[in-house]
Amino acid sequence: MFDKILIANRGEIALRVIRACREMGIQSVAVHSTADADAMHVRMADESVCIGPPSGTHSYLSIPAIISACEITGAQAIHPGYGFLSENANFVQIVEDHGLTFIGPTAEHIRVMGDKITAKDTMKALGVPCVPGSDGGVPDLETAQKLGAEIGYPVIIKATAGGGGRGMKVAQTAADMEQAFMTARAEGKAAFGNDEVYIEKYLTTPRHIEIQVFGDGKGNAVHLGERDCSLQRRHQKVFEEAPGPSITAEERARIGKTCADAVARINYIGAGTIEFLYEQGEFYFIEMNTRLQVEHPVTESIFGVDLVREQIRVAEGLPMSFTQDDLEINGHSIEVRINAEKLPNFSPCPGRITQYHAPGGLGVRMDSALYDGYSIPPYYDSLIGKLIVHGRDRPEALARLSRALGELIVDGVDTTVPLFDALLAEKDIHTGEYNIHWLEHWLETNLGNG
Ligand code: ADP
Repeated sequence: MFDKILIANRGEIALRVIRACREMGIQSVAVHSTADADAMHVRMADESVCIGPPSGTHSYLSIPAIISACEITGAQAIHPGYGFLSENANFVQIVEDHGLTFIGPTAEHIRVMGDKITAKDTMKALGVPCVPGSDGGVPDLETAQKLGAEIGYPVIIKATAGGGGRGMKVAQTAADMEQAFMTARAEGKAAFGNDEVYIEKYLTTPRHIEIQVFGDGKGNAVHLGERDCSLQRRHQKVFEEAPGPSITAEERARIGKTCADAVARINYIGAGTIEFLYEQGEFYFIEMNTRLQVEHPVTESIFGVDLVREQIRVAEGLPMSFTQDDLEINGHSIEVRINAEKLPNFSPCPGRITQYHAPGGLGVRMDSALYDGYSIPPYYDSLIGKLIVHGRDRPEALARLSRALGELIVDGVDTTVPLFDALLAEKDIHTGEYNIHWLEHWLETNLGNG
């Protein structure tokens, strides 16, 4: 059993992990940059260590600083949260070489899933349905053009090392191929140091449906249904819900079992998310995230489980505390991501919070590291909070979301709250009829945001 866990992250996700540790009677260690000395995760943890200057590269991404912080404090395990080092196989290897435990999958699983081509090949072999496209990497423009004609336009060119919506370009017609191919390659090279790309059929009206899986590393795995994260801006999710309004119980059981069986076969350990595009009743694998997702609370809400607690348990070698048969969906949950950004352009808006009041009441959860007088530093992601609501059904969850947004006060900086107020007035949001392009169109029409 762990006595002490170090959290290699900041913001709301660091608090999320500290909370799980506290309930399990485990001491927590926060790490922070000099810019985060007054941050809530530092205040809330049992101990804290300053690991470097403001820049993420020299603090939250500094492997030597994080390993040293473990050695100084005697932490036996590291929870990476999401982002930063959470999907860095090299980090996992170093953590293990130092006799520490990484709370997450193995370096090998991270490596396999971190490369989109290898991930797709692996999933295909495990019986998971994939988007039609090239068999592996596409070496040159000529091959790309040949494949484009074969697959049929539109197609999407993706950098195998891509992530966070970068390194992806759509070619609507053959005439767009040269530019799209070259740009995806260049972006892959510049952002990820790898210019290998592959091609997929571009689905025109899909929903983004992702399956939460969880494995014990010993060949047992379960699925916790799906999340619909179709409302996206620039391939970034802004509104997530579970269960998905378009998914039937039969579809859930079928794709869920396919995913659970796939990760069981590779002895996957911990939380993982298998992402799909879903169009006309078919699922198409796009990628697997080998970590806890930002939107995990909607799954926790409908199943009544603590995913971070489970991550810690399986990292300790304990079994999961539930089986597939124990997992039953209760009601509906929605999360909105609140960013410190100014509309209509979503420009980052760091600064001092003059007043903060979190909403409360039945079925409301606010995961945020804000407090009165806190200064949001300009160096990191602009996510400042996640508002998660739970209701007996979707209409109740939507009404609760509207009510909770009305109670939330964040003064001193601009936030994306007005976006959600406006979205809640839209009929399509209430009927659940939207696909991955819906929000971009809406922004263009309503905010003139392209
Ligand atoms: P990243 O790793 O950058 O998040 P993903 O492969 O997960 O990239 O894709 C992110 C988003 O890009 C998807 O949620 C979807 O909106 C869009 N996308 C990806 N592949 C396709 C495709 N084949 N057809 C249509 N849209 C796609």
